[in-house]
Amino acid sequence: MYDWGQEQPQPPSDGGGELSEKILPGEVFKQPVVGHGREQPLAQQGEKHGLFRNYWSGRYIPASVGLSGCVLETHLTTNRPGKAKTHATEPLYSGLRIPSLSIMPLNPEQILVPFAPAALPPGPWLVFAPHADDETFGMGGSLLKASKQGVETHVIVLTDGALGGERDDLVQIRRQEAEAAAQLLGLTSLECWSEPDRGLEQSAGLSNRIAEAIIRLAPASVFFPGPMEIHPDHRAAGFAVWEGLQQVYQQSRIRPLAIAYEISVQNPINFCIDITGEKAGKEAVMAVYASQNSENNYPELVIALNKTRTLSLAPTVEYAEGFFQFSEKDLGIPLREMTHHMINLYQ
Ligand SMILES: [Zn+2]
Repeated sequence: MYDWGQEQPQPPSDGGGELSEKILPGEVFKQPVVGHGREQPLAQQGEKHGLFRNYWSGRYIPASVGLSGCVLETHLTTNRPGKAKTHATEPLYSGLRIPSLSIMPLNPEQILVPFAPAALPPGPWLVFAPHADDETFGMGGSLLKASKQGVETHVIVLTDGALGGERDDLVQIRRQEAEAAAQLLGLTSLECWSEPDRGLEQSAGLSNRIAEAIIRLAPASVFFPGPMEIHPDHRAAGFAVWEGLQQVYQQSRIRPLAIAYEISVQNPINFCIDITGEKAGKEAVMAVYASQNSENNYPELVIALNKTRTLSLAPTVEYAEGFFQFSEKDLGIPLREMTHHMINLYQ
């Protein structure tokens, strides 16, 4: 936790008010505060510490705020000089209030997109793919990079892929394609669970099975499709894995990072992996999915998305894959609610 040291932040005289007020559930604190307080380098990825103004009440409160803009901890000072009180609160997620844009400075672009590529998240990795090919199209470059660096990589394909084309033997074909891709990606393991294609449902049964797999494979990072994906199976997979992770956090000591990846469209992201050196390798793996590429020019679309992700990166980064890493506290709320917090980052 950030130590405020000798210098206690003081409320600004213009309307800050007392800092001993109770924070009510649902109050939202917006950063940055202009001209007051200070920001520490990120103590944990996605968290900032500083003096935050509650735009609803107009009061200033020293706090730690997560990427979603929600207060994680408050550092309330009392009215008595020299008496500082730091205490953690429950994340204030419910009843989000959106103040008028006219009184709220918009988040800078650094909140919305990374300006430098990140190191690989810790391994082992476990990637949940709704369909065979999503792991490659979405994060094949990163998977190649991970296996080159000796990171264990596991992929679980959730559906049987029966609707991805006209052929009668499509389920077998797609399975073979997934196995060939797994070889090229250097995966440690591949599982295909054969849930119905276009019928993936966020059920207790599926989330239980996902939780069991996470506990069995004990990954340090778990990847799932971002919540802004178009295909319903992609979003259903995200919801199901989120619930599986919530179970894991409640029932075990395993604490994997929860990370969303992009497949067919841009989702909110907070880190990028530079895959410039893996671009040719990724194209070779994508070519394995011939049954899907005959349906659309997916490899071209994916490379275009990977190119677009370099917008905020140095020109030496020619291709990148985007991800959103959630905090442990984010897992305390449903992904549907979390998605609204992600969208609110754009305000
Ligand atoms: Zn898919």
